[in-house]
Amino acid sequence: MATVETVGGQIDAGELGLTLIHEHFFSSDEAVSAQWPHVRDHAQEHALALQAAGEVLDRGVRTVVEPTAMLLGRDVRASQRVAAETGLQIVVCTGIYTYDHLPQFLLNRSEDFMAELFAHDIEEGIQDTAVKAAFIKCAADEPGVNERIEKVHRAAARASLRTGAPVMAHSRPASNTGPAQVEILLEEGVVPEKIQIAHTGDTDDLDYIEGLLQTGVGIGMDRYGIDLYLPTDRRNATVLELLRRGYAEQMYLSQDFDIPIAAGLDWYPPELVEQMQAAGAAPNWSMTFLFESVIPALKEAGMSDEHLETMMAENPKRWLGV
Ligand SMILES: [Zn+2]
Repeated sequence: MATVETVGGQIDAGELGLTLIHEHFFSSDEAVSAQWPHVRDHAQEHALALQAAGEVLDRGVRTVVEPTAMLLGRDVRASQRVAAETGLQIVVCTGIYTYDHLPQFLLNRSEDFMAELFAHDIEEGIQDTAVKAAFIKCAADEPGVNERIEKVHRAAARASLRTGAPVMAHSRPASNTGPAQVEILLEEGVVPEKIQIAHTGDTDDLDYIEGLLQTGVGIGMDRYGIDLYLPTDRRNATVLELLRRGYAEQMYLSQDFDIPIAAGLDWYPPELVEQMQAAGAAPNWSMTFLFESVIPALKEAGMSDEHLETMMAENPKRWLGV
């Protein structure tokens, strides 16, 4: 039977249950955190994470997949503590979250060296713990798929081939990054079923989306609540049309909710978060918005219970299971 690594150890893939495929309990600029630790309040961050974990458990969620990779402040002990104190299953990753920059250490070493680092986290454990990564994260955004981004994608693919772990690629539809990302991963030999192109739901350009789906990869409809990129009604209309076209098995629903960012603890200071919210950036963003508003609206418009089960339980099980 297929298994999945969680921060609490290995489980059968069938035990994942209802799964949020893309949420962040923790995220930070890790250089700032390392150099000026006094700007972080770990007790507060832990309390906020515990609260969110409790709220999703109350909605029937059994597993949260947390794609907080290198350069987004991955802290596997913090996630492990939340899981241990709440009973929520948390799945963590290896990989690099960068849109452009790479440290000299990686700039001057090969894709294969980078792939070894990723494989280490999958086979040996992360940050000197026994917790193993279950998937590999890479990213492309506004700067596009340049030389450095291509390197990370090739390394992710090679680590995936060696370990069987799936790949999640943060994408930016507005910069048309998805097709180039898929091309590299497929060229390296990763099977499309093990590839997930995150944030595809930030567009409702069905031609763009269907172009990705026809390669066989999965897509993240995973930023519900971030109206800044696309409001909920347009995200819903897109999901419903893709369900009608028969793509339930290639979609994932989530919110990309990021607790430290939403709370004004990292990327943006609190006053900027307030300004952005006043401008309507993400008024309903939370780790439970899907359950409060999105799922009821999708059901009312024709999404079946089976569709939901496919997108939030079966697809995560198939993608993560090795
Ligand atoms: Zn994310």
